[in-house]
Amino acid sequence: MTSLKSSDYDYLVIGGGSGGISSARRSATYGAKAAVVERGRMGGTCVNVGCVPKKVMWNAAMVAEILHDMENYGFGKGEEAIGTFSWKFLKERRDAYVKRLNGIYDTNLGNSAVDKLEGVASLSGGSPGDWKVKVTGSDGTENIVTAKNVLLAPGGYPDFPTGDGVRENSISSDGFFDLEELPEKSVVVGAGYIAVELAGVLNALGSDVTLVLRRDKALREFDDIVRDTLDKEMVRQGITILRDTGGVSSITASGDKKTVHLASGDVSTVSDVDCVLMATGRKPLVEPLNLPSVGISQSSSGHIEVNEYSETNAKGIFALGDVCGNVELTPMAIAAGRRLADRLFGGVPGAKTSYEAVPTIVFSHPPIGTIGYTEQQAKDVYGEENVKVYTSKFANLYYGVFDIPFSDKPPTAMKLVTYGPTEIVVGVHCIGMGVDEMMQGFGVAVKMGATKADFDSCIAIHPTASEELVTMA
Ligand code: FAD
Ligand code: NDP
Repeated sequence: MTSLKSSDYDYLVIGGGSGGISSARRSATYGAKAAVVERGRMGGTCVNVGCVPKKVMWNAAMVAEILHDMENYGFGKGEEAIGTFSWKFLKERRDAYVKRLNGIYDTNLGNSAVDKLEGVASLSGGSPGDWKVKVTGSDGTENIVTAKNVLLAPGGYPDFPTGDGVRENSISSDGFFDLEELPEKSVVVGAGYIAVELAGVLNALGSDVTLVLRRDKALREFDDIVRDTLDKEMVRQGITILRDTGGVSSITASGDKKTVHLASGDVSTVSDVDCVLMATGRKPLVEPLNLPSVGISQSSSGHIEVNEYSETNAKGIFALGDVCGNVELTPMAIAAGRRLADRLFGGVPGAKTSYEAVPTIVFSHPPIGTIGYTEQQAKDVYGEENVKVYTSKFANLYYGVFDIPFSDKPPTAMKLVTYGPTEIVVGVHCIGMGVDEMMQGFGVAVKMGATKADFDSCIAIHPTASEELVTMA
């Protein structure tokens, strides 16, 4: 083991993902001597096995949907084009794009004068102002690096439920991005973002999809208006939803085909399955960090405990992003990382970020956009009598020329949750075509404390779906 000549970084960041890179680069703009330790490809979950490749697949699904729709706009039938779809082609293009991004992230780090250290990092003792971190390279070489401040931003990894054959016969979202072909028959297990997003993609691209829910409906933390609408829409689109199954008890395999055994419910097995995708949550990637060596506190779920300034209980060791388990979204990790660097190196003593009212999109089909309290949360916080909601449900004008019954038209649904006599808008919940590009601006309004009257004072943009949000009665 060699010791780098008292490398003495001002800032050593463990994890070259969303939070780590943004924090390191921001620190370097203030003149801090910074390094990022990364064990894999630069960019972390978001770039390699998360937001970016997922959005590419979502876009492909959107193209397939438009091909289905095209005859309603006077074009020929899209079926022929849909039949030519090549998963392999798309995967190659997607992988090449991600690879380009890995390169861009590498270059940007270099341009920011942030060192890149390749290997797995683990805490190795030291004391405040002089922490030691061991970096183990892929060839087994070990270096000890010392730093005044250390940021832990190692992200998380997909969790698999227990059960005979479950781990061996299923893939996670990571494995989804390795699939070389579209599975003919897929089972997606889970009820969160990843389950509904990937079930939607697989279904739109032509797989026969069964979504296995432990309880009755997906997206338990979301407002009922979006949950109910998505549920109906997934069924309308042909996804089989198995409810109240209690989860998967085991998975057996015969050749390439799998049989999924469910713990309870009306259906006990799903057979002849080509791909079982587990989307049942993620865990913090803490094991390699050797947290006990410096006594870093963790919650019962293993997440690193921090205060609002991303400080752990060890002075000069910080943590943020998915490893802390609070709002596991890329822009959240980036914001926390930048504010931390501003505070440590930029002379902004109080810099911190708010984890309240974070806007988010679920890239389901159709997408969901939401910010702030659900109706139920608002009632719990403010009291039922102080909360007023406004809702709207309609079919997007895009479907106006479709010669199909209203009930077959993909719905749009919106809800404003307001509080108090001035009707401060504390929640906006939307599902429908285009809401993914609609929410950012409404997020600003909610963060500014806009009231229903403020919304209404903004003249509608016509004809759009978003105009509903400023014309609700
Ligand atoms: P990560 O981005 O996971 O980065 C951590 C990095 O640390 C990794 O590169 C890892 O290799 C490295 N590392 C870990 N341990 C060590 C170690 N000991 N030594 C060295 N290196 C180490 N969020 C959105 O906002 N929008 C989306 O559309 C979206 N889609 C998603 C889709 C999927 C399928 C998934 C899984 C996630 C998605 N997310 C999305 C969530 C988002 O990707 C994460 O919230 C975000 O990447 C977290 O950033 P982070 O910096 O905490 O960790
Ligand atoms: P989530 O934590 O969002 O959802 C997992 C859900 O699966 C649980 O809430 C639970 O729902 C269900 N579940 C848990 N265990 C089981 C089981 N054994 N059998 C069946 N169902 C089970 O996790 P994800 O993995 O979907 O996503 C992780 C995080 O990544 C998200 O929370 C989000 O922060 C981020 N992400 C963001 C995206 C975006 O911004 N668009 C996209 C993808 C991920 P229940 O208790 O109701 O059964």
